[in-house]
Amino acid sequence: MIAANIEKIRQQLPSHVKLIAVSKTKPIEMLHEAYAAQQRAFGENKVQEVVNKYPLMPSDTEWHLIGHLQTNKVKYIAPFIHLIHAVDSIKLLETINKEALKNNRVINVLLQVYIAKEETKFGLSNEEVFELLNHATTHQLNNVNICGLMGMATYTENTQQIEQEFENLHQVFNTLRQEINKYPILKLESFTELSMGMSSDYELAIKHGSTMIRVGSNIFGER
Ligand SMILES: *Cc1c(COP(=O)(O)O)cnc(C)c1O
Repeated sequence: MIAANIEKIRQQLPSHVKLIAVSKTKPIEMLHEAYAAQQRAFGENKVQEVVNKYPLMPSDTEWHLIGHLQTNKVKYIAPFIHLIHAVDSIKLLETINKEALKNNRVINVLLQVYIAKEETKFGLSNEEVFELLNHATTHQLNNVNICGLMGMATYTENTQQIEQEFENLHQVFNTLRQEINKYPILKLESFTELSMGMSSDYELAIKHGSTMIRVGSNIFGER
């Protein structure tokens, strides 16, 4: 079942789009099943859960922290996390940089940008993205690799609105790539990822430039 679900999604993906299997709340047996179907990238939204699951999976599993991250918990995932999707403050970025340094690593991160017309979603405004990039440059945060942006569209049936929100983020992403020389912390060859799209809207996200979709319920079933 899980293998078939993954295969069905893979067949729809252009080669530049990566599938992150969102396994939050799901038992380890289900992750093993996905792994057996060649799935390597897994997304979790809670630090405690990814810390628990990490030793139970093969070492080439790629762990993505997709949820809101508190600064005091960065240290638990710093030794092994592959990509942190939801950096939404300078303080968090600085903590990740510090913990990466302690682990002698460079940690990959995405900046979460607020695109939804909902109050509940975390993320930076466009203005704050530029501020954060300037800060990261002047403070030489060299143990974080800012690989791109992440966003979540409003949860709505209105596909036009969802597409507009994804397109807004796509344009911020393109602008940063075009003006990359303004932000010495960024490199054109590594600032390449746009993480957007979940079970209900990944097709729309791909249409608007997504390079990473985060899919949970369409693979593992409803939570
Ligand atoms: C849970 C979650 C997903 C996956 O949601 P589904 O609707 O189950 O595909 C994607 N992104 C984030 C940030 C999540 O928390």
